[in-house]
Amino acid sequence: MDRMDLHGIGMTSRRTRERLVQRLLDQGINDSVVLDVMRTTPRHLFLDEAMAHRAYEDVALPIGHQQTLSQPYVVARMTELLMASGPRQRVLEIGTGSGYQTAVLAQLVGEVYSVERIKPLQQKARQRLRQLRLRNVLFEHADGCMGWPEYGPYDGIVVTAAPQRIPEELLSQLAVGGRMVLPVGGDTQDLHLVTRSSSGYETEVVESVYFVPLLPGKER
Ligand code: SAH
Repeated sequence: MDRMDLHGIGMTSRRTRERLVQRLLDQGINDSVVLDVMRTTPRHLFLDEAMAHRAYEDVALPIGHQQTLSQPYVVARMTELLMASGPRQRVLEIGTGSGYQTAVLAQLVGEVYSVERIKPLQQKARQRLRQLRLRNVLFEHADGCMGWPEYGPYDGIVVTAAPQRIPEELLSQLAVGGRMVLPVGGDTQDLHLVTRSSSGYETEVVESVYFVPLLPGKER
């Protein structure tokens, strides 16, 4: 990518991004490391041109294939919850989508293993991460309901599409000491934080959210 993409004026202006970070602060995001990454990650690069001018609004935006780029507040909140008890080395992400949450995670954890069921979305995301020189990410085109057992267990799991119930496979791929953040539900959904200790799993319901559904199978 050339310098213009990253530092161009207008939608990438410092003021525009500061406004977003201020909004995140106002909404209770207070992990300064997470806020710094939200400030510097160029969200407009994860959108098609027609949508890019809205990149620094705190809203979910369409990315095609009936999917959406998550709202910045939700990305920040999930990331903050994931990181809350110390650094994460291996993080599984289900629902790569645009790759925006992937890019945020890649700057904060050791390695990201990201699974997406729609091939063209995965391909675009892979390109964007390469442009940004974020190299600690592996992508997989698969049904994330099965997790990605090959590289597990993971000390962090983030799911960005909502299952009706937490998939068993994801629970079993969570390491002892690991944290999983995911939306659960249908028409109404709640963000869940699952922690695994040597004695079992504990689940905390955080707040209500709205995500696209976690769907079975994969699409070409
Ligand atoms: N974090 C993404 C959110 C994308 S929306 C972003 O900020 O851009 C959720 C994504 O989950 C969609 O791309 C959708 O295709 C994907 N998804 C839904 N069910 C899935 C499944 N079973 N396995 C993998 N990905 C899935």
